[in-house]
Amino acid sequence: MKVTHYSEQEWMQYVEDHLPSEVRDEMEDHVYRCEVCLANYMTCIEILTAQPTVEVKDTAAYMNRIVARTVGTKPAWYRSTMFHYGIAAAATLVLVATGFFHGLSQEIGTYGAFKPAPPLEAPASLETPISISDHLVNKTLTWLDNIQNEHKKGGLEP
Ligand SMILES: [Zn+2]
Repeated sequence: MKVTHYSEQEWMQYVEDHLPSEVRDEMEDHVYRCEVCLANYMTCIEILTAQPTVEVKDTAAYMNRIVARTVGTKPAWYRSTMFHYGIAAAATLVLVATGFFHGLSQEIGTYGAFKPAPPLEAPASLETPISISDHLVNKTLTWLDNIQNEHKKGGLEP
């Protein structure tokens, strides 16, 4: 089993589906047990979803989206985004359920206390920095909300 973490680059390739299935399987297996890689994975998903301009550059993909919107079916990139959200959400929940975060934050206390960005409103979080696990869980809950909303809006119902 691979002991080292996967790089953000590797996760980017995973998210963009450029990897052979054996590698994907290994990475999926790993992300269910690794908070650090899960964070990287989530970052990559966000990078991917935060760049609609990349899609627009690709005329075919752009047309697909318009057609898909008109016809009411979801384009492939959308499905894969939801797929990745699903994996990340599941991995977060598994890690939470197994109490993994608790053990890990003791092991790597310094990393666990890492603050991604200074909060704008500068709340009392100076004393209690947002841990990676809290961050991941919050993000996951947001995603689950999104998925649920999209599902309600979406064409799965008759
Ligand atoms: Zn890892």
